[in-house]
Amino acid sequence: MVIVLKSTATVQDREALAEKVTALGFTPHLIIGEERTIIGAVGISGNRDQIFDLIKHPAVDNVVPIQKPYKLASMETRTTPSVIQVGEARFGNGFASIIAGPCSVENEEQMVETAKGVKLAGAKALRGGAFKPRTSPYAFQGLGEEGLKLLKVASQETGLPIVTEVMNPRDLDLVERYADIIQIGARNVQNFSLLKLIGQTRKPALLKRGMATSIEEFLMSAEYILSEGNQQVILCERGIRTFETATRNTLDLSAIPVLQQRTHLPIIIDPSHATGYASLVPSMSRAAIAAGADGLIIEVHNNPEKALCDGPQSLNIEQFAQLMREMEKIGAVVGKVL
Ligand code: PEP
Ligand code: MN
Repeated sequence: MVIVLKSTATVQDREALAEKVTALGFTPHLIIGEERTIIGAVGISGNRDQIFDLIKHPAVDNVVPIQKPYKLASMETRTTPSVIQVGEARFGNGFASIIAGPCSVENEEQMVETAKGVKLAGAKALRGGAFKPRTSPYAFQGLGEEGLKLLKVASQETGLPIVTEVMNPRDLDLVERYADIIQIGARNVQNFSLLKLIGQTRKPALLKRGMATSIEEFLMSAEYILSEGNQQVILCERGIRTFETATRNTLDLSAIPVLQQRTHLPIIIDPSHATGYASLVPSMSRAAIAAGADGLIIEVHNNPEKALCDGPQSLNIEQFAQLMREMEKIGAVVGKVL
């Protein structure tokens, strides 16, 4: 249920209404928009009949049911798309920032050199995995806390905020201390206990779509984070698994407009894991900007041939700089600020 407040509603009105919502058995979520303030009343055990009576309150403009199961992620609760800002990175509502960096953190030289290169080229955030979800238990698993420290060094050298993945709820406190944006990997998209815990932090979350996750399931996963009070969720399409083997995954670019019709949350594209080949990354990145993506996350390595993880899909710094210039041109045409 959405309780739409009048523009004249005071802070006291909001508090009184939130208390009434709680008393009726719902959880109130205050959403202060540019044009209007609403209270989302969420929950399954609340009194639906009585909540409609709130329309009689002098500060209430309207009370309307939310049709979608993903209540807080739904566009029904907003008039404009959300913008999530971290440092100079902005995602959503006309802003499309680029996150770039290696698949995994390997050493200080690799991190600092790559961070400086992507920053100079125009990236607004630095990626790098310290905890890596690898198909094989014998493959490089990431440097753990040591990797987080190296990310911090590279971030301090460049001013770029850090995007890094947490796999295990046990490591969340640690990762939260270093990350500016906490990444949830494709394999954890339905790890509901992890999602809930990230919902209790106040760090923006970057939620990757799983390789077999429907759009509705994806939005329900975002809802787990939102329903715990964390309003900053960035969705990331990174390719889904199909019968096709010519690419690592199949990039579902239609997820961009489909999600933008359904949710106010920003949607970014990961062309690296979607395609699996560096040679395919530029065309898919340009296409993503043209299709309205609110940003991209791109794997870039100072020496892809030597990368410990995902070298074949990583751009070198020069290739990334060239791609940035191309994306900026397309952004100018479609009205996106990179
Ligand atoms: C990654 O971004 O490093 C990663 C492992 O991606 P995904 O979870 O999309 O496979
Ligand atoms: Mn990778």
